[in-house]
Amino acid sequence: MKISIRIKFSLFLAALLLFVVFLLSLLVLRGIEDNQENQYEQYLAQQAKTANMYFIQTILSEESKVPETFLASKGQEFAEELELISGQSLVLYDMQGEPVSRKTANPSPDNIKRTLAYALEHKTAYLVEGDSLFYLTPLRAGSEQVGVIQFYYSLSTHLAFYNDIRQLFIYIGAVVFILSFLVGNIYFNSFATGIIKLDHMVDLIREGHYETTTLKRKDEIGKLSHGIHAMSGQIKRTIQGMEDEQNKLKLAVDKLSLLDIQQKQFIGNVTHEFKTPLTSIKAYIDLLEMYPDDEKLLQTAIVNVKSETERLYQMVDKVLQLSALEKYDFELKLEKLAVKPAIESVLGSLKGKIDKFGIMLYTELQDTYIQGDKDSLTLVLVNLLDNAVKYNKANGTISIKSYSAADQAVIEIADTGIGIPPELAEKVFEPFYTVDKNRSREHGGAGLGLSLTRKHAEMMGGSIALIHTGPEGSQFRLVFPASDSA
Ligand code: ADP
Repeated sequence: MKISIRIKFSLFLAALLLFVVFLLSLLVLRGIEDNQENQYEQYLAQQAKTANMYFIQTILSEESKVPETFLASKGQEFAEELELISGQSLVLYDMQGEPVSRKTANPSPDNIKRTLAYALEHKTAYLVEGDSLFYLTPLRAGSEQVGVIQFYYSLSTHLAFYNDIRQLFIYIGAVVFILSFLVGNIYFNSFATGIIKLDHMVDLIREGHYETTTLKRKDEIGKLSHGIHAMSGQIKRTIQGMEDEQNKLKLAVDKLSLLDIQQKQFIGNVTHEFKTPLTSIKAYIDLLEMYPDDEKLLQTAIVNVKSETERLYQMVDKVLQLSALEKYDFELKLEKLAVKPAIESVLGSLKGKIDKFGIMLYTELQDTYIQGDKDSLTLVLVNLLDNAVKYNKANGTISIKSYSAADQAVIEIADTGIGIPPELAEKVFEPFYTVDKNRSREHGGAGLGLSLTRKHAEMMGGSIALIHTGPEGSQFRLVFPASDSA
């Protein structure tokens, strides 16, 4: 059974105090007893001396001067005189132990016999019965013992005094015990409370709660609480660090497995996208081998092989760019670029295509500047504007906005095209991802443009997102850190 330290302290304190009070009372009472004993022994010895002197005087004044005869004839008389002088009642015995005066008190016969035998051998002895003391001392005539005097001494006042003192000790002892116990308990209690709090803190830490407090004490317990607090903080930080490392490791593992999946997809896509134009080219070559004189077939083959070869070339170029961007840290030529002229220049290069599809352009271009690479910015804009044309409806519109907002330069390109399903808003940035393969292929695309665009935008410290899409068209937003406008 576990006993609380508080109870242990209290029990120990109570036992200690009881022991001290008991020991102290015992010593003092013993002292009083000894003192009383000394007092009446001295007093009675004095009485014996006086009695013996008076006895010699009396004998000398007698005619016969034989003590034994005197005692036998005038023992009672002499005893009464002695009683008057000493103020004590007494009994005289001869050497045979027979009383020669009348008895004044009755001690138990056996006890008095033993004590008397002792006193008859030249020794002083006394017997205590209740509150009566019988002091027996030799009666001498010179150096010769002629009998025994037995003084009766009442101990009642001594006993009453002793009992009063003892009673006082019991009261004082009880009061001292209770007061000291209370005061000591309060004092020890504060230690016990401190230790109990420390124990509680350790329990909390063991359960994984590291938010401990410190005790406002200036002793070792306070110091210990600071130590525990510091240690729990350290444990918390270590565990936190380990968890962070674990999370990082998990993220890295997740990323690696995702990369693995993406790489497999990528290889699958590359294979598929490259196989399609190659199959077409191979088919035309096979046909030409079979019908070498077919002029019409030759013309069609030239046109298609040329366009498929161009598509292959474009794809190889973009794949190489993408993998190069993945592998190497490209040194961008960062410079301050004005966004408005960059957009206008790209629009100029796409003018033929825009006109061909009868697309209307709306521009709202502010003079904003970014810190970027000229070729990368052109690639980003070409890809986005080319898509806005490619996936637009006939006679649709393209709106282009550029503005500054909170240290950022923003470019927004919106079209009235076929739109992208909202759940694919992120997917379209993955390499080789196309929403509609046929439509992309029609325009020579293989799903590489947006992934390249995002890579280049991020390399310049920017970002790209599809911010709006629906049946009415799509809207992309580019955000770059702004450069000073001067
Ligand atoms: P692609 O070279 O095939 O155009 P992108 O990476 O540029 O490849 O685009 C990925 C896919 O996202 C496209 O195949 C197309 O389905 C869709 N897409 C991109 N831009 C638009 C747009 N403005 N409107 C509708 N769909 C678009």
